[in-house]
Amino acid sequence: MRTDIVVVGGGPAGASTARLLARYRDVHIIEEHKTPGEPLQCAGLVTQRGVPMFARESVICEVRGARIHSPLGFTLTLEARSSRAYVLDRSHFDRIMFHKAVDEGAVPRVGASVRSVAHAGGTVTCEVRDDSGMHHVQSRLLIGADGYKSICRRAARLPPPKHMLTGIQVDLKGAELDSDFVELYMGTKVAPGFFAWAIPAGDLARVGLCTWDSEDLPAVYLKKLLSRPQFAKARKVSTASGKIPIGPGKTAVRGRVMLVGDAACHAKPLSGGGVFTGVRGGELCADVVIRHLEGQGEVELDEYDRLWRDEFGKELSRAFRIRRVFVNLSDKKIDRALRIFAEPEIKSLLERSGDIDYPASLSSSVLRLAPKLAQFSPQIIESLL
Ligand SMILES: Cc1cc2nc3c(=O)[nH]c(=O)nc-3n(C[C@H](O)[C@H](O)[C@H](O)COP(=O)(O)OP(=O)(O)OC[C@H]3O[C@@H](n4cnc5c(N)ncnc54)[C@H](O)[C@@H]3O)c2cc1C
Repeated sequence: MRTDIVVVGGGPAGASTARLLARYRDVHIIEEHKTPGEPLQCAGLVTQRGVPMFARESVICEVRGARIHSPLGFTLTLEARSSRAYVLDRSHFDRIMFHKAVDEGAVPRVGASVRSVAHAGGTVTCEVRDDSGMHHVQSRLLIGADGYKSICRRAARLPPPKHMLTGIQVDLKGAELDSDFVELYMGTKVAPGFFAWAIPAGDLARVGLCTWDSEDLPAVYLKKLLSRPQFAKARKVSTASGKIPIGPGKTAVRGRVMLVGDAACHAKPLSGGGVFTGVRGGELCADVVIRHLEGQGEVELDEYDRLWRDEFGKELSRAFRIRRVFVNLSDKKIDRALRIFAEPEIKSLLERSGDIDYPASLSSSVLRLAPKLAQFSPQIIESLL
């Protein structure tokens, strides 16, 4: 079988890319699960810019602040005047995104898994397994939107993610949570290498964490978190788990293979959020592909690299440098850093201008207000100024 473009993966990044490409070209979108959006692997906290208008019915509620709990008992409360993020029904969101791509003309192949990718000359060949057996699908271009375990990334011979976070989460009924706030819990014994969260989601609370390079499995840390008084009496409704690749490389293009979303390591290093960058990266990728194909190759495919780097790549790199400082902090230092962020001028800056999609962009202003933050890693912090 032959088509213009194959998109591997029917998550937000693949669906976003396929939706725009399908208006101009023959596109097949291949998703290994029979129902897009399942199984769930997300806390569903996404800014407005990550949720296209047509997908807004997947919004459960909105939050306008965060309480960040240090391992030594201090709490930093950041409160904005208006909504800062949506809490999504992520499975519903993914289904809307996928069906929108199909409505625009993308050919869905669900329950079909890409097993290998080969590219030679101007053709990419995917080996695809579905209920009826093994097939070959050939295309002029391949979009790898196949998430953290990306086969397309390996086929493009791009380096593996720098950090791979492992996450676990439960939905609880009956937990005591403030509906306007996200609770974040930090500490080397709470969620080593990352943080834990509790997010209000209508009548449920999503409580989970990610770890990196930790001694114990994430489930061990989650069990401890769930024994806190605010969760102890709640009932577990569901459990989800997954991985998040962190640390963008320089490129997401190799030959006729282009990567979007988690396959491109575009998740945000400080929050692990990858929906916004997945959806937006898909739009940028589609724009370049269309111009490339319509212009008979005048626009090179690596123009996509320039676009994503300009729009969010610099932020990702800067955030990854901050993450490198963070993962080396002891509990005492995390506590000290949060107390510095709570100083009136800094807190007010964070509340006024903090942006979940671009947290690192505030780093130089914060460092100017609090040069004592340099104690945590002088060289890296200097590079952020
Ligand atoms: C515990 C947890 C909590 C998270 N919370 C948030 C959050 O609150 N906000 C946020 O923005 N992000 C969050 N994320 C990250 C977010 O889920 C991802 O960044 C996002 O899903 C990336 O979208 P994607 O389309 O690139 O990849 P995915 O959503 O992973 O989609 C990839 C798709 O490709 C399919 N696929 C993979 N391999 C193949 C193959 N070989 N053949 C066919 N299909 C294939 C998969 O089945 C999957 O459907 C969280 C992640 C985890 C693990």
